[in-house]
Amino acid sequence: MIPASFDYVRPSSVDEAVSALTEAGEDAKVITGGQSLLPLLRVRLAAPSVLVDCGRIEQMRGVSDEGSSLLIGAATTHHDVMHDPLVRSHAALLAAATATVADPQIRHRGTFGGSLAHADPAGDLPTVALALDCVLVVAGPSGRREVPAAEFFVDYFTTALEWDEVLVAVRVPKLGADEGWGFHYEKFHRTAQSWAMVGVAAAVRRSNGSIGEARIALTNMGPTPVRASSTEAALAGVAASADAVASAAQHAAEGTSPTSELHAQADYREHLARVLTKRAVLAAAGIG
Ligand SMILES: Cc1cc2nc3c(=O)[nH]c(=O)nc-3n(C[C@H](O)[C@H](O)[C@H](O)COP(=O)(O)OP(=O)(O)OC[C@H]3O[C@@H](n4cnc5c(N)ncnc54)[C@H](O)[C@@H]3O)c2cc1C
Repeated sequence: MIPASFDYVRPSSVDEAVSALTEAGEDAKVITGGQSLLPLLRVRLAAPSVLVDCGRIEQMRGVSDEGSSLLIGAATTHHDVMHDPLVRSHAALLAAATATVADPQIRHRGTFGGSLAHADPAGDLPTVALALDCVLVVAGPSGRREVPAAEFFVDYFTTALEWDEVLVAVRVPKLGADEGWGFHYEKFHRTAQSWAMVGVAAAVRRSNGSIGEARIALTNMGPTPVRASSTEAALAGVAASADAVASAAQHAAEGTSPTSELHAQADYREHLARVLTKRAVLAAAGIG
């Protein structure tokens, strides 16, 4: 199908993008990589009056070292994120999960920020942002604000972004292997390069043979990504053994609200969450 007609603006700065949105009103929409929005336009599930293209704003691209965190521009493509040396050294979980997103063509166009702003419950990167306690930098008519990932994802395809705001960058806290952190993203999908039926992002810090801290978040186990808090609590301070991990992973589905649909019933998703959490934590902790 052919999209409904729209006007197109290509700002060259964040300020220009915010002005363009404000001027166009609530029916305008940001487009960055277009990998999620264009399919919606083509079937007319979205029919914005104006598209504000943020894909060429230099300020919104690239990765910089900010000391205790990395600052990743929202318009940085998946390809550039997963190959960036800073990301590979200090945010290996993000690099690993990004490598599972779609296929190379989509990763060359789709962006980290677009993925977070789209907030698909089956998206891999919102889960990573939640597990790593990322902070999202948002620009609007009254200036900039910072939103923790735990407050950013509100509901199915709904975020804390207002209609006149642009997601500019994401602060990703550094978790280094030198402090004992290990990572793994475990994704269960029906076919290679497709969306997760369930996914698990795990960051685990080992300390003197024990698990010092575990951060675990789940993909597609509810309208938004969700932390596996009971499993995190059950792992804190236990011996880093396969039995302790297996026992803690039994709590992974607690507090989740997965849907039932053609490909998976809710109880099957709960089962997957337990099995995949065990695999993800064992791999992240380097056990077995
Ligand atoms: C066939 C296919 C398979 C896919 N498989 C996966 C997968 O396995 N895992 C996965 O996680 N994703 C997958 N994706 C989605 C892909 O990761 C997209 O790149 C991503 O969801 C959106 O990024 P984008 O830059 O293309 O956003 P766009 O399509 O440009 O925009 C998406 C939405 O976000 C908003 N938006 C975009 N950028 C901003 C911004 N800077 N500020 C405010 N709002 C913004 C737009 O208004 C729109 O509502 C797949 C996509 C396709 C087409």
